[in-house]
Amino acid sequence: MSVRWGLIGASTIAKQFMINAIRAQADGEIAVVMSSSPERADAYARENGIPAAVSTLDALLGSDIDAVYISTTNELHLEQGLAAIKAGKHVMCEKPLALTSADARKMVAAARKASIVFGTNHHLRNAGAHRAMRETIAAGRIGRPIAARVFHSVYLPENLQGWRIARPEAGGGVVLDITVHDADTLRFVLGDDPVEISAFTQSAGMAGGGLEDGAMCIWRFQSGVIAQSHDGFTTKFAGTGFEVHGTEGSLIAANVMTQKPVGSVLLRTASGEQELNFDREDLYTRSLRQFHAAIRSEGQPAATGEDGIWSLASAEAALQSSKTGKAVIIDPQLGSLA
Ligand code: NDP
Repeated sequence: MSVRWGLIGASTIAKQFMINAIRAQADGEIAVVMSSSPERADAYARENGIPAAVSTLDALLGSDIDAVYISTTNELHLEQGLAAIKAGKHVMCEKPLALTSADARKMVAAARKASIVFGTNHHLRNAGAHRAMRETIAAGRIGRPIAARVFHSVYLPENLQGWRIARPEAGGGVVLDITVHDADTLRFVLGDDPVEISAFTQSAGMAGGGLEDGAMCIWRFQSGVIAQSHDGFTTKFAGTGFEVHGTEGSLIAANVMTQKPVGSVLLRTASGEQELNFDREDLYTRSLRQFHAAIRSEGQPAATGEDGIWSLASAEAALQSSKTGKAVIIDPQLGSLA
């Protein structure tokens, strides 16, 4: 039996990655797309070979579909997610799950109660590079991890210089856009949870409306590991990377904070340097494969709703820290979901 998907949002990310990822599944089918504009819905459906186009959530949820992929602007995820859960559809939701972690908890609690599969589209933990780093650390090959550094400052492509840099009410800003990914990738690679964060943000010339387009954070993890992250929309030439330094070795990854299965990971220890081999499967295709397996009750989505709460609670704490000038405790309050 195939999994029939409805796309909530005629978005760039769906067009660039997720439509292909769904269609790459042997049992994946896209039945319908919803846009708030009927004209855009029609055009999007035509361009992407989707059989039906609708312009209301009710019409989409009333269609013959099993699951929805939500990739609208961030302020809409909560209402659309809750409606989809109520309609009994499995939900793959884009990050950030909502504008606040309290709202994200509402959605994840509703999904649990309704026994539907709920995933957060944190693609990076599906990258072969990050999985290789996680396995190397878990196998003890760098000894005890001490510190991590995330380089995730990019140049926001011109076609995406819209709501992200202009609309605070839509959940714009680099922290909700990129710091959430750092939170998830750090948690996944280190196998550890953050407890505290301190952040400086800036507006370096691209974002308006009081939004930040650059952020540097310092994180403390449960094990005592400290980490730093740099996220930005305005650096054209920075490149991305991720390093983890331990008592017996260092992992140095270049060009890995990206949507494509590219980059390199170097392990440096007393015995020298070694390039790690890792699989180059498309990140989103792997994410969808796990989601389909979860629908068949075989495991969980690559990143769960709880993971999405963790990343949003971290971003929220970073924003609070940047306002108050003080370190802020990160508490996803997962206990309140039960
Ligand atoms: P887009 O700006 O492309 O799309 C968001 C919404 O904007 C769409 O739902 C659409 O509304 C509206 N829109 C799109 N194009 C137009 C247009 N030409 N004119 C008017 N409105 C338009 O956003 P992204 O695809 O970049 O991001 C969507 C979501 O996905 C966000 O939550 C973001 O955080 C997340 N994301 C996640 C990534 C990941 O790797 N996990 C990567 C990129 C984004 P409507 O549907 O009503 O037509």
